[in-house]
Amino acid sequence: MSKIIIIGAGGVGSVVAHKCAQLSSVFTEIVLASRTLAKCDAIAASVKERTGVIIKTAQIDADLVPMTVALLKEENPSLLINVALPYQDLALMDACLETGVHYLDTANYEPPEEAKFEYHWQWAYQDKFEKAGLKALLGSGFDPGVTNVFTAWALKHHFDTIEYLDIIDVNGGDHGQAFATNFNPEINIREVTARCRHWEDGAFQETPALSTSATFTCPEGLGEFSIYRMYHEEMESLTKHIPTIKRAQFWMSFSDAYIKHLEVLQNVGMTRIDEVEYHGQKIIPLQFLKAVLPDPGDLGKSTTGKTCIGCIIRGIKDGEEKAVYVYNICDHEQCFEEVGSQGVSYTTGVPAMIGAKLLLEGTWATQAGVWNMEQNDPDPFMADLEAHGLPWTCIELSPEQARTFSVAEA
Ligand code: NDP
Repeated sequence: MSKIIIIGAGGVGSVVAHKCAQLSSVFTEIVLASRTLAKCDAIAASVKERTGVIIKTAQIDADLVPMTVALLKEENPSLLINVALPYQDLALMDACLETGVHYLDTANYEPPEEAKFEYHWQWAYQDKFEKAGLKALLGSGFDPGVTNVFTAWALKHHFDTIEYLDIIDVNGGDHGQAFATNFNPEINIREVTARCRHWEDGAFQETPALSTSATFTCPEGLGEFSIYRMYHEEMESLTKHIPTIKRAQFWMSFSDAYIKHLEVLQNVGMTRIDEVEYHGQKIIPLQFLKAVLPDPGDLGKSTTGKTCIGCIIRGIKDGEEKAVYVYNICDHEQCFEEVGSQGVSYTTGVPAMIGAKLLLEGTWATQAGVWNMEQNDPDPFMADLEAHGLPWTCIELSPEQARTFSVAEA
């Protein structure tokens, strides 16, 4: 049906390539382009071995709009899936506009010099995409992505109004390393060390990074985890599109070892994103740190355990207070067996493939313009999650359980 181009041959790009290749009735031709051609070729070889599908590869610097434009003109795809880094979002959107290609990503734009990831830069493209008759689907990963869809689905089927939203991202996996990040270390550490913002009383409230924590007991016997409140971009679009939300918070689990290492790295200045002079050369400490940390794309073979990501949603139905918890549990080892990647890359790559599928089929993003996930009908996406490797569960909680994050064991 459609030719696509995937930009970014990292952990997530590999999963997107494998999952799209599994669905060759929709994705009839696949091109994978990234900064390092050898990484594209290694993924292409794995895709061929696992699915028999041959994908084309190309080298590209996605920061350079003319270079992307030239590649898009040569390949003429219907859709560009951006799973490079958030820094490339605007350059890739510009290239899509110039060549008439639809656009999809999994993380919102962030300027390299400031760890401030916000939608306003990409929302500003609304008119341009509308005028060009093109569609852009933003944040089609797990969080953002599936968490937006879980919230929209809960509103459609369980609530008249949603008032409280807690998004809880637990990685109960063990990669066997003293310190490693689940996805790109530079982006991950910028996100985790940024000042926390959560939505309350009609505005984002700021608190120091990782200064608020709680304990969360995962369902299905996964155990108890320390979770830390932090800023995450889906709160910005969800509170805009579901204005009845009084409070939205995002929580992520971190092990004591992760927190200990992060504290030391911060204290010694290794997480700085400004330039420092070293032996006559300018380096950014966080980028140097990324170079010595394990590559998240290589963690799959050693990672065991499961992820558990979901939304605790409290609101009103028929005049009564009501609460639900919608979640997915994903097994790292099963992901590795299927596509050769760990669960965090898998839980991001599968929703990117589903968003692309629904956009190309015309089910989602039904008109030209820039779309967030929750602006679309959640039902087909929820059905595709079930069909393509990320089954989900919805359980009803008492309002008290929702307030205290206690999920009763089945
Ligand atoms: P990786 O670092 O593993 O992969 C990024 C890839 O992009 C690398 O192959 C890198 O090339 C390539 N790249 C970087 N800069 C450029 C450039 N200028 N031109 C071309 N290619 C470039 O990251 P992940 O796969 O872990 O993450 C990918 C994206 O997914 C990120 O934006 C991340 O924020 C997002 N994400 C979203 C999640 C969600 O749930 N919504 C969760 C996890 C991640 P090279 O190999 O040469 O460095």
